[in-house]
Amino acid sequence: ATPTALLVGTGRGAQLGILITGPEVLESTRRVDTVVLDKTGTVTEGRMALVDVVVEDQGDAEELLRLAGALEHASEHPIGRAVAQAAPAPLLPVDGFSNIAGRGVEGIVDGRRVIVGRESLLAERSMPLSESTAAAKAQAEGEGKTVVAVGWDGTARGILVVADTVRATSAQAITELRALGLTPILLTGDNEAAARSIGAQVGVDEVIAEMLPEDKVATVARLQSEGRVVAMVGDGVNDAPALVQADLGIAMGTGTDVALEAADIALVRDDLRSAADAIRLSRRTLGTIR
Ligand code: ADP
Ligand code: MG
Repeated sequence: ATPTALLVGTGRGAQLGILITGPEVLESTRRVDTVVLDKTGTVTEGRMALVDVVVEDQGDAEELLRLAGALEHASEHPIGRAVAQAAPAPLLPVDGFSNIAGRGVEGIVDGRRVIVGRESLLAERSMPLSESTAAAKAQAEGEGKTVVAVGWDGTARGILVVADTVRATSAQAITELRALGLTPILLTGDNEAAARSIGAQVGVDEVIAEMLPEDKVATVARLQSEGRVVAMVGDGVNDAPALVQADLGIAMGTGTDVALEAADIALVRDDLRSAADAIRLSRRTLGTIR
């Protein structure tokens, strides 16, 4: 491949809203046969909104939102932003905040040790949800919503239900990726039911859910060991290791800096159709060279 022709390809990429770190990236782009898609912030907008609060018996929804909102204010996660935004102002200060990657957040608010995150995280700390709250959670998840549990001082206090919007261009992008002969796979830290529901909305039937950040890398590596050439598309801090592991890492333009640094390609317009454009472009560019 002549460097001049490759650079013409990357220049065309910029016009299409695709930023490529270097001309050599086009070569891996051309060979890709599998596209692994992160869900939140990639297939969906990642702008979640709080849609429901369910408290355990004797609980106070306003108090739950006040404590969880204060804690989540320190989180950069879309779930955290949704919860903090819905909490009554002014937000309480937080002591000893910590982020448990891909699982939740914890810290001390108003003298209480508060934790917000996956149900399994709270269950591990001996804070299981009651049967009726678990049922409310299952129903919301079946509708494609995301649910996090809230507990403090050793007791589960309720759940927060947040909902996201599928990007308007995602379904079309997946049709285009399939037309290019690629297999799309949805990979998410979210629960299985929500992941299947979002997958169904955009036409992806292969769904791998409840992945911790390290599981995402391992999944990409496993697909590669099966002989696949894998592109990974993501936006979050949690996606960065998988973006590096993939044969081709693609980051959403509004993704976190960590994801952008880990990627080979950035999609300026946050439009997954640009991923299909990138693959089409590299096939065409390298096709003219050979
Ligand atoms: P995705 O792969 O869909 O982008 P993440 O890996 O970022 O999802 O998060 C996976 C799960 O971890 C979330 O669905 C949620 O249950 C939990 N989680 C992560 N961050 C937070 C947070 N700030 N507050 C509550 N729960 C969180
Ligand atoms: Mg994400």
